Amino acid sequence: MSTNKDLQERRKAAVPQGVGNFFPVYAERAENAEIWDVEGKRYIDFAGGIGVLNVGHNHPKVKAAVREQVDKCMHTCFQVVPYEPYIALAERLNELAPGGHDKKTIFLTTGAEAVENAVKIARAATGRTGIVSFAGAFHGRTMMTLGLTGKVAPYKTGFGPFPSDIYHARFPNSYHGVTVEDALASLETIFKADLDPKRCAAIIIEPVQGEGGFYVAPFGFLEALRAICDEHGILLISDEIQTGFARTGKWFAIEHSGVVPDLITTAKSLAGGMPLSGVIGRAEIMDAVAPGGLGGTYGGNPVACAAALGAIDAIEEDKLLERSIELGDRITARFKQMASKNSLNCIGDVRNLGAMIAIELVKDRDTQEPATEMTADVLRRSLDKGLVVISCGVHGNAVRVLVPLTAADETIDEGLDIIEQSLIEASQQG
Ligand code: PMP
Repeated sequence: MSTNKDLQERRKAAVPQGVGNFFPVYAERAENAEIWDVEGKRYIDFAGGIGVLNVGHNHPKVKAAVREQVDKCMHTCFQVVPYEPYIALAERLNELAPGGHDKKTIFLTTGAEAVENAVKIARAATGRTGIVSFAGAFHGRTMMTLGLTGKVAPYKTGFGPFPSDIYHARFPNSYHGVTVEDALASLETIFKADLDPKRCAAIIIEPVQGEGGFYVAPFGFLEALRAICDEHGILLISDEIQTGFARTGKWFAIEHSGVVPDLITTAKSLAGGMPLSGVIGRAEIMDAVAPGGLGGTYGGNPVACAAALGAIDAIEEDKLLERSIELGDRITARFKQMASKNSLNCIGDVRNLGAMIAIELVKDRDTQEPATEMTADVLRRSLDKGLVVISCGVHGNAVRVLVPLTAADETIDEGLDIIEQSLIEASQQG
């Protein structure tokens, strides 16, 4: 039997260090909200493979759909010999995505690839090149998506130059004193100083910044962006790769604001654990690219599309949109209770949209100085106690919860007890 230590050594010898590694434990199997490592130790999973497992590990509906499709065929390439699951999934997403207009959907494999394609489509449809994204944003690790990403270390370090004609506006952040007006003023400055709005193809935004720290974009800000886009003929792209698929209590987080984007990128929990991403958009915009301009060998793999159809059924049948709101309330109430204790004044902020929840750890509530090392310590202590939970944030000082929405209340409470105990121990160290 392999041990975690053996595997860690083999990994170090065989895999480059650039592939980061939160924890030196190796998964053997997983079920719903639990993972067992190669040594048989059980962990509660609050990371969900970074937001991929909203329906839980190995959901029976996803597994059944995958098995059935594997028996039929695993790959033909949609551009060569197409197949029904791709079309059926496009039809479902066109229905589920916000807005009553006609929509079309293309499938790719990774989130970054979806964002790349959204930019290609936006440029082809508008005949413009400029793209505005936000400081603190994360859109992927390919060159264009790194250009859009608004955080240098570790993502961008050593990889430039990035594609040109990308501009970063400020993201409103009430906890750190960036108002909606500040953020809109920064966009105005870009339009005055660098980019004629008539040359701007798209504004891309995460309705809740994910890697950046789980900051929720105020709905009024999204409405203002929509108005600015309409005024100047700019397309609004909602990057729902982390916020999507029931995580926030809606299929897509932007629905909370009532704003209808022109293009939506989706991935992660879309296919319940299989690699699949997509761009959903206004039919006429999606059709702006000539035949052959979009695609890819693996994009919309039939097994992944079947898995996604299974995941959508699971979300509907297990009522996971409602469950997400319930979980958001339950978990934030518990975090707020922790934050009210004097011994845990390291919790500077508790925030969420549905079950996309984070606590931000600070050295001092007044200065909000990030408690980055302490956050890493909390994660390590949690792992030792049997909980997989990860951080996010420009300073790596937010503990984020992306627990499967299918997790039982007792499992969630067990995980929260571990976080509380780890926070107590880590703050005593500090
Ligand atoms: N956009 C957002 C909002 C994301 O959270 C991520 C992944 N964390 C990506 C894009 C990139 O997705 P992938 O890692 O599948 O390329």
